[in-house]
Amino acid sequence: MEKTMKDRVALVTGGSRGIGRACCLELARRGATVVVNYSTQRAQADAVVAEIEKLGGRGIAHQGDVATVKEMSDLATKIEKELDGLDYLVNNAGVIRDQLLLELEEEDWDEVLRVNLKGIYACTRAMLPIMMGRSSGAASIVNLSSIASSVGSKGHVNYAASKGGVDAFTKALAIELAPKRIRVNAVAPGYIETEMAREVMKDIDPRQRIPLRRFGATSEIANVVAFLLSDAASYVTGEIVRVTGGIQ
Ligand code: NAP
Repeated sequence: MEKTMKDRVALVTGGSRGIGRACCLELARRGATVVVNYSTQRAQADAVVAEIEKLGGRGIAHQGDVATVKEMSDLATKIEKELDGLDYLVNNAGVIRDQLLLELEEEDWDEVLRVNLKGIYACTRAMLPIMMGRSSGAASIVNLSSIASSVGSKGHVNYAASKGGVDAFTKALAIELAPKRIRVNAVAPGYIETEMAREVMKDIDPRQRIPLRRFGATSEIANVVAFLLSDAASYVTGEIVRVTGGIQ
């Protein structure tokens, strides 16, 4: 593959596992240097860096809570110092705490909104100044939304509300940043085989529920994320791209 992202720098939050890991590898394959953010799983983040190096690329693991402004601003300082700025931001880190509303504890409401929504605010707020100064061309942001923002399902109110917020944040920020030539889009996956989705997917028969009759692979999300970040999507901003195997 032609390395169209050569000399570009990417940050993937929650890059240690699942969809984030696949995004790190796809961006590295395209030539980008990748900062692999994680929350607790240091060994998994190091393993992603090792895979990036095997591909001939450069990766840096960095622990940090996406929803803590100080931790994200420390990360921005480190990226600026070591890599001279940032071209691509993938706001991927997320958590799920499913429960019927009548049993949903306040802390589970708060934690899902904190990581999934405040995390996108805190990380983007911290990274924007170091994205604006790049001379290599237009920067780009992709946020991970979910099918849950547009299709209702039981036990999901906190998660669905957080992802509805992600969609609204994406559209509003796209307008705000268009004059700066920074594009902002979201990818809304359906059912993708990761640790997060395991519990939800165990009650679903993909042959009945999904028009393409199977669950998605993490690489199938990473390909769309990488496309939206890349110059090939230079006229796309403010979009929520659903990648669901045909679920409407
Ligand atoms: P996953 O396998 O559970 O991985 C979650 C990642 O987020 C891990 O790398 C984790 O780090 C990181 N993380 C969690 N809390 C964090 C925090 N406070 N700060 C920094 N990193 C944090 O999840 P996934 O299935 O790949 O999902 C990735 C994104 O896609 C999420 O936003 C999710 O809502 C969205 N999505 C997934 C599906 C699906 O079917 N899988 C569908 C729709 C949307 P550690 O490894 O250190 O814990």
